[in-house]
Amino acid sequence: MNIRLLGTGAADGIPGFFGNDSVSRFARENGGKEIRSRTAAIVDGVMKIDFPPDTLNQLQRDSLDALDWTALVFTHSDDDHIAVNELQYALIPFTDLDHLPYTIYANRVICDEILGRYPDWPIELIETHSFESFSHGPYRVVPIKATHIDEEDCQNLIIERDGKRLLYATDTGIWPSETFEFLKGFVLDLLVIECTDGFNESVYKGHLNIESVIQVVESLRTEGVLTPESRVVTTHHGHHGDARHCDLERALLPHRIEPGFDGMLIEI
Ligand SMILES: [Zn+2]
Repeated sequence: MNIRLLGTGAADGIPGFFGNDSVSRFARENGGKEIRSRTAAIVDGVMKIDFPPDTLNQLQRDSLDALDWTALVFTHSDDDHIAVNELQYALIPFTDLDHLPYTIYANRVICDEILGRYPDWPIELIETHSFESFSHGPYRVVPIKATHIDEEDCQNLIIERDGKRLLYATDTGIWPSETFEFLKGFVLDLLVIECTDGFNESVYKGHLNIESVIQVVESLRTEGVLTPESRVVTTHHGHHGDARHCDLERALLPHRIEPGFDGMLIEI
């Protein structure tokens, strides 16, 4: 199983859409791994995770084909994770397809948003719930509850195939105790985890910074959810975190945590 990080930037990306901070300026001047589009990923080239407004550019950049998707799985409804109007380009009159060629898995809020926008579309739309697993082809997916928006079942995703298991944890905050307890039943080959706030601390508790990522990772190592062989990679970096890619490497690599970057392909 592999996962490609298509985007590793927070809500307004890096450089920030209208950002004039030092991280955004450095990114504009240096390019490369400093450029972070909105957070999304794809498993084995077929299971798409989230649908940000940068999706088309991400596919063009990495020479990927949306027609390869068999599933589109959503984590939550923030605008950097679902660009609902972009879905229209899958069908007539933009293509000759008369039905959406992949299954959408999403929480209630997103299902309502999609059905509201496309009430007459032939879509296979399946509502997901935290702690209730579902199967899609050779994959088993177990959504777990994130701490992000109080009114919504925001989900991180355990994805399993052929004895391999990853956890994709974007927009997660510090998990509620029920999520930590639930995770104790799993051993992960890979954890992809958000690091939105970088070196800074936010009053909003729906995100993690470098310090809290390290705390979460160490507690998962103590519980055996992460083993010495498990890889840990970060995503969803915000320019307000005051962390360039090289700063993230200095802060995270000593803890055996790898800063993710756009286009990163991870095999497990
Ligand atoms: Zn986000």
